[in-house]
Amino acid sequence: DTRIKKIADTVSAYPDFPKPGIVFRDIFPILANPAVFSDLINVMVERVHASCPTPDVVVGLESRGFLFGTPLALALKVPFVPVRKKGKLPGEVKQVSFTLEYGTDTFEAQAGRIKEGQNVLIVDDLLATGGSMKAACELVTSMGAKVTLCLVCIELADLKGRDKVKHPVDTILQF
Ligand code: 5GP
Repeated sequence: DTRIKKIADTVSAYPDFPKPGIVFRDIFPILANPAVFSDLINVMVERVHASCPTPDVVVGLESRGFLFGTPLALALKVPFVPVRKKGKLPGEVKQVSFTLEYGTDTFEAQAGRIKEGQNVLIVDDLLATGGSMKAACELVTSMGAKVTLCLVCIELADLKGRDKVKHPVDTILQF
């Protein structure tokens, strides 16, 4: 697929960012190129149709998951729901806490946005250790919904995040 190659060529790699030893994959050049961005969303739509029922809701993870989740939800004509770090969403929220390399973090979603029995597609920009995606799956599941697919633009395959997630995972690029 020539679209995938173009998307891969558009992602930039920054060695030693944000700290020594990390190669940071920058997805913003995709958003700076409307033709490539549009190809990526089309490929994501195709992956959804190929691997799960049309979701009732698309969930995007703060913050770069919002950038791909919202156009994808719009293309699928289904609601978009953000999952954010603790304290950013108003009103009643559901929470899940998860462990990071140092300490813990908490994800939240607004109560009532995800309903019992719904099929949910979770979107993020990048899958590393899988900790964020696993926590998001737990949050969605705790609201009585089903995670039918976790769709991510970039997978850092060596980190085996997919094994941690324990729900179907599909990724567009693997580094
Ligand atoms: P994980 O929880 O799988 O270890 O980390 C995934 C999260 O970290 C994603 O939400 C992603 O935005 C962020 N992340 C980690 N490394 C990178 C990177 O190299 N590039 C980008 N764009 N995001 C990263």
